Amino acid sequence: MNRVAIFPGSFDPFTRGHESIIRRALPMFDQIIVMIGYNSNKKPYYPLEKREEWINRVFKNDPKITVAKFEGLTIDFCKLVNAQYILRGLRTSADFEYERAIAQINKDMRPEIETIFLLTTPETTAISSTIVRDILLHKGDASQFLPSCIDISEFYED
Ligand code: ADP
Repeated sequence: MNRVAIFPGSFDPFTRGHESIIRRALPMFDQIIVMIGYNSNKKPYYPLEKREEWINRVFKNDPKITVAKFEGLTIDFCKLVNAQYILRGLRTSADFEYERAIAQINKDMRPEIETIFLLTTPETTAISSTIVRDILLHKGDASQFLPSCIDISEFYED
């Protein structure tokens, strides 16, 4: 059976931290689907299509990684695409508490799905989409926190 994992998140924007988790998880799975979760009632910072385009660019040479957009519960998306695993990254103890609750609730609702956690590497632990957004909002240079092929300044020139 194909081992399919979902890596869900808002990726607003996608950072080197996200990229690192996916690349490290790659040998464990046959396919990883990066699921950009959205809520039509909430306005993100970067448009959904832009976020999708950026992530596709990062993994254009990795056929095992695909990108999808989904509005709804991650466990419902797992069912839709026949995925058995949810992949998440852990940076801090705060991440752990938050993720533990979600993973245990997901396990109650869909016992056949396992959530797999990878600890972040020390170099990426401090990176968060929120901090990156703040730097960019104030016209700072956040390039060292973003995958090398993502040039967010192009977004501001549009
Ligand atoms: P969410 O809103 O679901 O937390 P994010 O896009 O912020 O979505 O994060 C998606 C996943 O990536 C989460 O598991 C999060 O812990 C993980 N993640 C975020 N930043 C990093 C990082 N710097 N290093 C490793 N994992 C990270």
